[in-house]
Amino acid sequence: DKRPAFLEVCAVTKRYGGLVALDACTLAIATGGITGLIGPNGAGKTTLLNVMTGLVRPDTGSVRLSGVDITALPVHRFAEKGVARTFQIVRELGSLTVFENLLLAPRHQSGEGVVAALFGRRKWWAQEHANAVRARALLERIGLWHLADQPSSGLSGGQKKLLDIARALLLEPRLILLDEPGAGVSPPLKLEMIRLVRELRAEGVTFGIVEHDMHLIGELCDHVHVMAEGRLLVSGPFEQVSRDPRVVEAYLGAA
Ligand code: ATP
Repeated sequence: DKRPAFLEVCAVTKRYGGLVALDACTLAIATGGITGLIGPNGAGKTTLLNVMTGLVRPDTGSVRLSGVDITALPVHRFAEKGVARTFQIVRELGSLTVFENLLLAPRHQSGEGVVAALFGRRKWWAQEHANAVRARALLERIGLWHLADQPSSGLSGGQKKLLDIARALLLEPRLILLDEPGAGVSPPLKLEMIRLVRELRAEGVTFGIVEHDMHLIGELCDHVHVMAEGRLLVSGPFEQVSRDPRVVEAYLGAA
């Protein structure tokens, strides 16, 4: 992949006790593209997303954003720099409504007290209003505005995943890392997800997608990294890597 890297991990190692989750892993998410991160269970994909978003600190190695080392930054600074993510298991914010879930996301991510202190009261309310307007626009965009006042706990698996993407979008990210966006999602909502991701990419958002659903990967990704045992095994277009004997073997070996 010759395109410039938006986010890179360079020789990143992460151990949990004696277990090596990432083993001197080096790979990049190309600017403007949709990069797939695939590999058998336990390959280190979620750990990689955690490192790429500042949630987990690598033991050694670095994370670079447009070439700048951001490894040591606190997690909220990753978000401020435009790196957002969704989760494999969507985080619930208690018994809140769909709309409240979206409104509370920025507070949840940056710390409400910090926001109030930084902006002062009047600016804080202006910000609050702007957030509400954007939350509505985003709910309309993902087709969930009609459910705004429903408890978010009543949403289907796919609707929760879409809401999680909307939550990431509130931060106006330049990169969104999706952790298994297709898991537990009905076929029609999967199409909605594909449409949304393609539309956002056309607007200039870069994507990294961890996924076991190979149909989704094939539909969306222009480039795929295959991981195994904490390292990058093979990279290339999906059609090419899916035929690679090393990839087939890694999946069979893990099965
Ligand atoms: P899957 O496809 O099943 O989600 P994965 O490729 O995302 O797998 P990771 O979740 O990154 O893999 O896990 C890599 C390895 O690190 C696994 O062996 C896992 O058990 C281990 N691991 C991950 N997080 C932790 C943690 N917080 N504590 C201990 N071990 C962990």
